[in-house]
Amino acid sequence: MSTRRPHIETEVIQGTHDAARFEGAQVTPIVRSTVFEAGEQVDPHNIRYGRLSTLANQLEAAQVLARVEGAEAGLVTASGMAAITTTLIAVLRSGGHVLAQRPLYGATQQFVSERLGELGIGHGFIDVRKPETWQAALTPDTRAIYVEAISNPLLVVADHARIVEFARAHRLVSIIDNTFASPVNFRPIELGFDLVLHSATKYLNGHSDVIMGAVLGSADRIRSIKLWLDTLGGTADPEACYLLRRGLKTLALRVERQNANALALARHLETHARVAKVIYPGLASHPDHALAARLFDGFGGMLACELAGGAEAAGRFVRCVKVAVHSASLGGPETLLTIPATTSHAGLGAEGRARAGISEGLVRISTGLEHIDDLIRDFDGALATAGA
Ligand SMILES: *Cc1c(COP(=O)(O)O)cnc(C)c1O
Repeated sequence: MSTRRPHIETEVIQGTHDAARFEGAQVTPIVRSTVFEAGEQVDPHNIRYGRLSTLANQLEAAQVLARVEGAEAGLVTASGMAAITTTLIAVLRSGGHVLAQRPLYGATQQFVSERLGELGIGHGFIDVRKPETWQAALTPDTRAIYVEAISNPLLVVADHARIVEFARAHRLVSIIDNTFASPVNFRPIELGFDLVLHSATKYLNGHSDVIMGAVLGSADRIRSIKLWLDTLGGTADPEACYLLRRGLKTLALRVERQNANALALARHLETHARVAKVIYPGLASHPDHALAARLFDGFGGMLACELAGGAEAAGRFVRCVKVAVHSASLGGPETLLTIPATTSHAGLGAEGRARAGISEGLVRISTGLEHIDDLIRDFDGALATAGA
């Protein structure tokens, strides 16, 4: 890593795309025009046109994100899923095969297990906690390995250094979804990952008002993914890019608070009589705690818990909170609670969830920016009212 690179707090403020400067403005205006005077440009993929990711707001958002992740280049997309699907299609191509962690984010899992096959692309799932089993899952067509920085909803942290080592030994493209950790806590490119994906909808934007995604990596890889994005059309809207750019300026501040709130809430819930189990990589009781401490600068804003009263108590609990919000999303300024069995992992079925270790009453929490005292009071009150 270059020691001359500014810290992330500085990077998110300074990282303005030079070409995006407008009459000396510090903030790039939203360029809504879809029509531009024809210039000298002859490369058909670099014509100024919104779908081709060549507008000022798109270029600026992509460049700042690339710098924040320590990548050479970046591309922003209409959603996290647009980044994930476009990248997997571009890297794997018909006849390819991918090894993926299980369980993945719900829509990613669905894409890998139900859609890739229809495109003539194979897949195999691996247990990231059992590296000795990975090799047996390889096929002659395996081209990539796909993992998540911190998995949803059980917050499993893979030995990411070992994932990179395995990918290199078998000439696989290593791809990681860094949404849950955010670049404040973890920068996978520094560890050797080839491609980093984001649902920018979550921490990167951080204000619960934008759907967007991003892919970061080497200029060569980003160029070949852009060829697919240009034709598949999942390009980010300039207004979304503007909002993302604005939200990004407080990324480090927000994530530091979310890390602190999650740790304090996890510690509090761990001692609570109505809580049976707390899952948070920052707790010594988490099976991947040592690994997370080595890899990450912070343990993130996501935690999960099981209540002593099980699924019924959990259902009552999420309806009793007043400061936190009962919602399936994450990474916003407000603390969000969801029961994965009824939302993100409903599609797995009871049997699938049992196999994945996701209990019916598991409550997933995305800590926001509220004062920790108010959060703890809210949780205590809801636990008492729910008779959890
Ligand atoms: C939300 C999310 C996605 C999908 O992102 P969208 O912006 O909703 O398309 C992918 N991966 C993870 C880990 C997520 O949390």
